[in-house]
Amino acid sequence: MEISSVSEFEKHISRVLISAKQIEEAVKAAGREISEQWDGRPILLVSILKGSFVFLADLNRAINVPCEVGFMAAKSYYDGTESVGEVKITMDLAQDVSKYHVIIVEDIVDTGRTLSDVYKLLSSRGPLSIKVITLLDKPERRLVDFKPEKALFTIPDLFVIGYGLDLGEYYRNLPYIAEYKE
Ligand code: 5GP
Repeated sequence: MEISSVSEFEKHISRVLISAKQIEEAVKAAGREISEQWDGRPILLVSILKGSFVFLADLNRAINVPCEVGFMAAKSYYDGTESVGEVKITMDLAQDVSKYHVIIVEDIVDTGRTLSDVYKLLSSRGPLSIKVITLLDKPERRLVDFKPEKALFTIPDLFVIGYGLDLGEYYRNLPYIAEYKE
C-alpha cells in the first residue's frame, strides 16, 4: 500500500469515531486513577509497539507519581484487516519486571491473542502486580478469553485508524480515532 496524495489519504477516513477531546479527557482520568492507586513501589508502563506509542506518551504525562516506561514489540499477523492468528514477540522488554507494578499499555484488544501472550510472558517473570490498560476494546471479536482491567472505550466490530493505530503504517498521526474505509 502506498499513498501519494492528500486526497487518497483522506478518502480512507470514513468518519471520526472518538474525538481528540474525548480521548484527552479519558486519558487524563486514567492517569489520575493510576496516580491515586500508587503504593510507593515502582510502576513500569509497558508499551506494546507500535500501536500504543501515542497512548503511552499521553498516559505517561497524565500520571503525577514516579513511573518508568519500557517497550516491547509484538506482531500479530494480518491479512489485510483480518488477523490470521499468529503472534510473535519481536523485541523483548529491557527491564527486570520483578521490581515493578507492571501496567501493560495497549492500543486495542481485538481477538485478544497478542495481549494474552504478552500477559502470560510477563506474569511468568514475577512482577509485583500486573494489569492491562487499553485505549480501545473490541469485545465482539474476542477469540481467546481475555479481559483487560481497564478499557477507555469499547467499540463495535470496525477497523479503526488514528492515535497510533495504522493501516499499512499510515494514519498513526491522526489525533482522533476514525473508521477506515476501503
Ligand atoms: P489481537 O491480538 O487482539 O487480535 O490484535 C491486537 C493488535 O491488532 C492491535 O495491537 C493492533 O495492532 C491490531 N488491530 C486490531 N484491531 C485493529 C483495528 O481496528 N485497527 C488497527 N489499526 N489495528 C488493529
